Amino acid sequence: MVKITDHIYFVEAPNKARFPYCHCLLIDDERRALMDTSCGDENLRELLKSPIDVIVNTHFHEDHILGNYRFPDAEVWMHTLDAPAARTLPGFREYYGFSEFGGNAIGQAFIASIDLHASPVHREFVDREVLDFGRTRLQVIHTPGHTPGHCAFYEEKSGLLFVSDIDLSSFGPWYAHRCSDIDDFIKSIRCCAEIDPKIVVSSHKGIITDNIPGRLKAYEEVIYRKEAEIIQALKVPSTAEELAAQQIVYGKNHTLDEFNMWFEKMAVLQHLQRLVKHNRAAQTEGRYYLI
Ligand SMILES: [Zn+2]
Repeated sequence: MVKITDHIYFVEAPNKARFPYCHCLLIDDERRALMDTSCGDENLRELLKSPIDVIVNTHFHEDHILGNYRFPDAEVWMHTLDAPAARTLPGFREYYGFSEFGGNAIGQAFIASIDLHASPVHREFVDREVLDFGRTRLQVIHTPGHTPGHCAFYEEKSGLLFVSDIDLSSFGPWYAHRCSDIDDFIKSIRCCAEIDPKIVVSSHKGIITDNIPGRLKAYEEVIYRKEAEIIQALKVPSTAEELAAQQIVYGKNHTLDEFNMWFEKMAVLQHLQRLVKHNRAAQTEGRYYLI
C-alpha cells in the first residue's frame, strides 16, 4: 500500500489492474473505508485483518464490486443510479443490455466466469454530497457516461481526485453497454478537468500527477477519432453488426470471439445513437446512413 495523503492509501491491484482487477483506495480514518474491492485476493486478505466499516463503490461494474461480498459487515455506499445494477444480477444484466444482439447467453457466461455476487447497497449518495470519514472528507462528483451512476471523489485539502474509470487509458473511454452515454462521458471528462486536481487516481492506470489536463483532453479525443472512423465507414449504409465487423472501437488487434464481438456491437451502437441524436445519421430497418 502506498500512502498518498495522511489517511488515504493506494491499494495496488495485481496484473497492472487489468480486468477483472482495479486499483482501490483505503481511507484509514475514524471510519475505515475501502473504495472499490477488486484489488485481488492477497490485498483483500491483508485488508480483512482490520475491520472495514464502509465500502464506497465508484460504480456498479464487476471489476469494482467483485470483492464486496468478502466484507459482509461493512456498509456499502454507491450512487443512486448504479445501486439497482449492484443489488441483483438481473439488474446487472439489464444495465449491460445483454438482451441486445442475442447476448443473453454471453451475459450468463460473463457473470459465471468472474463469480460475480450481487451486493447490497446500504446508502445511496448523490452529486456533491460530502462523505465524512473523520479527518477525511470526500466530495462526490457525479460523472455519468461510463455508467449512469459513475462517480469521482475529490479531497479538497490534498487536491486528490479519484476518477475511477475515467481511467486515462490509451484505449480511451469505455461505453460498450446499454447504460453508457457518450455525451455524458464527454461532459464528465470536462468536469474532472475543471476541478483541476493535483493528483488523479485512475482505477486502471494508478496515481497520475503529470500533465493531467493534457491527459484528460487526449482521453476525450479518442472518442472523436473512433467517431470519425465510423462516419467514414457509414459512407456505405450499414447495420451496427456490419460496422462492428470492422473493429473500429476495440481495434483490429483485438481477438474477435463471440464475446468481444458483442461488446464491439454495443460500443458501435452507442456511437450510432449519438450520431442520430445529433442529426448526423439516421436509420431505416436497422441500416444507418449519413444525413
Ligand atoms: Zn467500469
